Amino acid sequence: MSDHFDIVIAGGGMVGISLALQLGAVLPAQTTILLVESVPIPAAVEGGVPDYHPAFDARSTALSYSSRQIYDDMNVWEGLRQWLCAIESIHVSSRGRFGSTLLQASDYRWPALGYVVENGWLGNALIQQLYRQGRVEVRCPAKVVGARPERKCVTLELEGEGSKSRLSASLLLVADGANSRLRDQLGMAVNEKPYRQHALVANIASAEPHGGCAYERFTDTGPLALLPLLKADGTENRSALVWTLPAEQARHLRDCDEAEFLQVLQERFGYRLGRLVKVGERHAYPLSLVQSSEQVRQGIVVMGNAAHALHPVAGQGFNLALRDVAELGRVLSQGIAAGLAPGDLKMLQRYQQRQQTDQDRTIQFSDRIPALFMHADPVLGLGRDLALAGLDIMPNLKREFVRYAAGVAGNGS
Ligand SMILES: Cc1cc2nc3c(=O)[nH]c(=O)nc-3n(C[C@H](O)[C@H](O)[C@H](O)COP(=O)(O)OP(=O)(O)OC[C@H]3O[C@@H](n4cnc5c(N)ncnc54)[C@H](O)[C@@H]3O)c2cc1C
Repeated sequence: MSDHFDIVIAGGGMVGISLALQLGAVLPAQTTILLVESVPIPAAVEGGVPDYHPAFDARSTALSYSSRQIYDDMNVWEGLRQWLCAIESIHVSSRGRFGSTLLQASDYRWPALGYVVENGWLGNALIQQLYRQGRVEVRCPAKVVGARPERKCVTLELEGEGSKSRLSASLLLVADGANSRLRDQLGMAVNEKPYRQHALVANIASAEPHGGCAYERFTDTGPLALLPLLKADGTENRSALVWTLPAEQARHLRDCDEAEFLQVLQERFGYRLGRLVKVGERHAYPLSLVQSSEQVRQGIVVMGNAAHALHPVAGQGFNLALRDVAELGRVLSQGIAAGLAPGDLKMLQRYQQRQQTDQDRTIQFSDRIPALFMHADPVLGLGRDLALAGLDIMPNLKREFVRYAAGVAGNGS
């Protein structure tokens, strides 16, 4: 087994595996790639429910139109199709206020505004394609516990199943999540802005069907989204709840009995989906905006949540990370074809320059929306109502919002 790789990806979550697939597809066969993941990657299953993996947990992800294009190019979309629920419209409203707006895919002649997939099925489709492609070597369970930059490579220390090993890489891609130990070990500072809120996540069954509508409802305690899901057994109307709440309230609603939970949610959300009849497993995640102060060094790129972890309100974090993945793939394939080493600093800086505007705009968009919609100031409140009403009145503003939701605004395409 080789102890030098051109590229090592540390972390096989949704971003790490997507990176492996993208690089495996666009880089020449002689470019060696290794993926290292600390938690066992479950076998891909046809049909049945995939095994649990912490990076592909009980959450759901809203994939934007830009992500569809990227996964199409990676040959992942076809395998995902059967698990996707198309978002045909987005209803944006504000609890206790008059403003609301309806964004519809048909108004833009798009097949959908986005697609919702349960993370377990997304992980399953990614893992299936990883094995089918067979291009990337996988070490799992194994952990990258040390990284030391040298002049022309990065020396890595791996630990797995009771043994230690060393290897070197021309390029290390750090994709080990928001609490990235590797980023810290490399001395890259993080800027963290805690939102002092938790995201409460659960699947909800309702009496009425969602009809492909995603609901984004802003309340005085935080935004509440109900995203349309496929029917699990063909009968139940299901939506995925992402409810942003103060930490204390989130913990209480995670642990209280089902009847109390459904009563509070019904009161906050209203009856657009009829009576809310059932809630699945509930999980609460603390929220903060985490940004690495550096993303690129000679031989190193920080990716995914390790580079930027966003507020989930607008469902942008993973979609942005996928656009980063696609751009890094383009820059590396051009550079390597021109004879550059994978860790070439100027080439990696080009990647960052190309993604900077998209990252800045997407992060600002995700950061500002919850703050704006929670503001107690009545003047701001009125402004917000007018903004929502304005989306219906001013088609250009509405189009811009939809372009963000679809993930095609950030990169100026
Ligand atoms: C409630 C909620 C809802 C969301 N909804 C959406 C949405 O609708 N749309 C959207 O675009 N985004 C959404 N997001 C964001 C999305 O979940 C993240 O962008 C995504 O999970 C980031 O994945 P990642 O692979 O970077 O990190 P992680 O999922 O944290 O994966 C990191 C991986 O690295 C492994 N690892 C850690 N350390 C090491 C090591 N030393 N060596 C090897 N492996 C290691 C871990 O085991 C793990 O598998 C949401 C986020 C939240 C919190």
